[in-house]
Amino acid sequence: MRLPVLATKGDERPVHLRTAHYDHRMDFRLLCVHAHPDDEAIWTGGTLAKYADQGATTAVVTCTWAAGTRRAAELERSLDILGAGAPRLLGYADARNAASAPGAPRFVDAPLEETVGRLVAQLRQFRPDVVLTYDAYGGYGHPDHVHAHRVTLAAVEASGYDQLYPEAGEPWWPRAVYLATFPRELVEQHYESLFGAPPGPGQALMGVPAGRIAVHLDVAAWKERKWAAMHAHESEVGRGASMTLLTSLPEPARTQLLSNEWYRRLPFTEERPLSTTLEP
Ligand SMILES: [Zn+2]
Repeated sequence: MRLPVLATKGDERPVHLRTAHYDHRMDFRLLCVHAHPDDEAIWTGGTLAKYADQGATTAVVTCTWAAGTRRAAELERSLDILGAGAPRLLGYADARNAASAPGAPRFVDAPLEETVGRLVAQLRQFRPDVVLTYDAYGGYGHPDHVHAHRVTLAAVEASGYDQLYPEAGEPWWPRAVYLATFPRELVEQHYESLFGAPPGPGQALMGVPAGRIAVHLDVAAWKERKWAAMHAHESEVGRGASMTLLTSLPEPARTQLLSNEWYRRLPFTEERPLSTTLEP
């Protein structure tokens, strides 16, 4: 099946995150917000490595797992491989693992005022041009991922208001938020080899129709770095998590999944003159 993607290998017009207003070799800042250590590599590893290599300043906020835990140490190695600086931990507990942050509330249970405020502080400190997080379904429905999406959208908007969280730094609005997702058509194509059986009737599938995707990044040149960053999360590899699924795929399908990253785009700042209608 031929995928209706926006750019393919050999395409003369590569589709990039919108960096046209910047000399991103000098001055482009990209911040990912992820729920758990390992998501930065699985969902955005190719994008992080690519932009770091092109001279952008990249960073990752991780909402769960506390400093001093094994998975925080694995995150540090993964970020090192991807060139994304030191971990930025919000310090909440994983919804499914209380030992991830002893004494701290679960990320999904913490007051929204507080979680949004902590992320606003990160946004105002790092001052990203663009922010990356999960789509509204959290990629595959994990409650921490869905919550990270919601908290990120709330924080990106709040971050630009001087009335909100004045103690958290100078207001800052990123230009856009990009939501990591998959073309639904690709998920359907690989579903059976990933999960061993076709989807059941009425089962929610990952991803969105390809026509709803704004950016397709070919990250084939960075797929080994992405794979290495994924494997820095040794405890997840050992647990049989997403990496095992990918490893079990036939090689061409695994390469295809590792070599491509897709995003929806939500603009957060004005990019057109004042209008008297909502659209276009
Ligand atoms: Zn996760």
